[in-house]
Amino acid sequence: MKSALLIDDDPIVRKVLSKALSTAGWTIHESKDGEEGIQAALQHHPTAVICDLLMPRCNGFQVCRALRERAGELTGLKIIVTTSRGFATDRLNAFESGADHYLVKPVLAEEILKLLEGTASTTAGLPHSAAPPNPAAQLPVGNLLRFWGVRGSIPTPGPNTVFYGGNTTCVELRADNQLIILDSGSGIRLLGQQLVEEFKERSLELTLLLTHTHWDHIQGFPFFAPAYIANNQVRIIGYEGYRKGLENTLAVQMESSYFPIGLRQLPSNISFIEQREMAFHVGPIRARAIFANHPSVCVGYRLDTSTGSVAFLPDHESYSRMRLHARAGGHQGQETFDYCRAEDQKLVEFLRDVDVLVLDSQYDETEYQTHVGWGHSCYEDSVGTALAAGAKRLFLFHHDPGHDDARISRMVGHAREMVASHQSKMVVEAAREGLTVALAKAGTV
Ligand SMILES: [Zn+2]
Ligand SMILES: [Zn+2]
Repeated sequence: MKSALLIDDDPIVRKVLSKALSTAGWTIHESKDGEEGIQAALQHHPTAVICDLLMPRCNGFQVCRALRERAGELTGLKIIVTTSRGFATDRLNAFESGADHYLVKPVLAEEILKLLEGTASTTAGLPHSAAPPNPAAQLPVGNLLRFWGVRGSIPTPGPNTVFYGGNTTCVELRADNQLIILDSGSGIRLLGQQLVEEFKERSLELTLLLTHTHWDHIQGFPFFAPAYIANNQVRIIGYEGYRKGLENTLAVQMESSYFPIGLRQLPSNISFIEQREMAFHVGPIRARAIFANHPSVCVGYRLDTSTGSVAFLPDHESYSRMRLHARAGGHQGQETFDYCRAEDQKLVEFLRDVDVLVLDSQYDETEYQTHVGWGHSCYEDSVGTALAAGAKRLFLFHHDPGHDDARISRMVGHAREMVASHQSKMVVEAAREGLTVALAKAGTV
C-alpha cells in the first residue's frame, strides 16, 4: 500500500497535493507542522514524506534528521523537501539532513508523482563539484609586498583610521612568479577585487598562507572574489588549529547559520594543505614557519625569495616580557627567565638579516601592562627583536582597534628614536593599507 505524508503549514498546498496523489492511488496523511508530522510518520509509516522547509514548531531540516534517526522503523522512506526559497545553501543542508529530493515551489503534483514513482531523474546529490584544474593558469609577475589589511582583532573603519586603514590582516606577496597571500582578514576583499580586475578572464593560481585561524585572519575569505571563479586555483596552507582541522575551521565560518554560501559550494578549485613540517616550498620560494607565542596554534612565516626575504608574524607576544609579569602565572625562577630568553632568541635567529619584517606591535609598554597574556607585543619589543635580528626594514603591524592614526604615528616616531639611539640604519614604518614595498631593495613604490 503506497502512502504519503504531507507536512506543510499551508492548507492549500496540502489540499492540491492530496487531491492529485489520491487520484493516483496514494493514501494520504496530512500534518500542519513539523512536530505533528514527525509523530504522524512514526504512527503511519508512510512510503514517502513530502515536507515543507519552513514551518512552525519544527522546520524541514529537523524533520529530515528526526526521521533519518529512526531509519530502523521507517525503512525505505523517501523524503521530498519543498520550499519557497531557492537558496543553494538550503538545498545542500536539506540533503545533508537526509532529504532525497529538493523542490522549489510552486511544485506540480505531476512532478512529485514522478519522483514518488521513481520515473523522474533524481535531483539528489550535492550541487556542484569543483571545476577541473586549468593547466593554462596564468601566473602573476612582480616582486613586491602590498598591505591590504593591517589592523588586529576587528575591522575599524572611520575617519580616525583612514591613513593606516581599518581592515584586518591581509598582505600580498608577489615574487618568483608566485602569488602568495598572507592571512585572509577583511583586507582580502579589496585584494580579491583588484585581482579579478587585473586578471579578467585569465585563470589565477595563488597560495594563501594562514598564520592561524583567529577570526581577524580568516573573516575576509568568504568575500574573496577569485574563490568564486571556476578556473581559479586557491591553495590554502596552514597548521592544524586547536580543536578542528584547518579546512573544517574555515568551513564553519561559512555554515548557513553565519553565511549564505558554504565553503564547499565555492566554484574555484580550493585545496588545503595542513602543514606538518616547519619548512616547505611555495614554488621556488623557501618557506619556513615558527610557532608564535599566541593563544591556540599560531605561526609566523619567513619567505626567502630570489629578490629578498620577508618575515610575517602578525600575532606574537614576547616570552620574556610575558613572564616578567607575575600575573602571567607559572614559575618565576631564574630557569624560567633563561628559558624565555632562549625562546625569544630562537625568534631572533629565525628572523636573522631579513629584508622586510612585518611584526605584531599592537600595544605600547604602558598598555601592555593590562594586556599580559593576550598574545600580542608592544612595539618596544618589536623594535628590540628587529634590531637584534638585524632586520633591514620593520613594519609595525596588527594595529590595535583602539589606536587612531595619530596614535600610531606617535608610536612610529618613538620607534625611530629607539632605532637611532642604537645607531642602526633599520627603517621603521607602520604598515598601512595600500602601501607597496618593492622587494628589489628599491624601497617603496
Ligand atoms: Zn590577530
Ligand atoms: Zn590571533
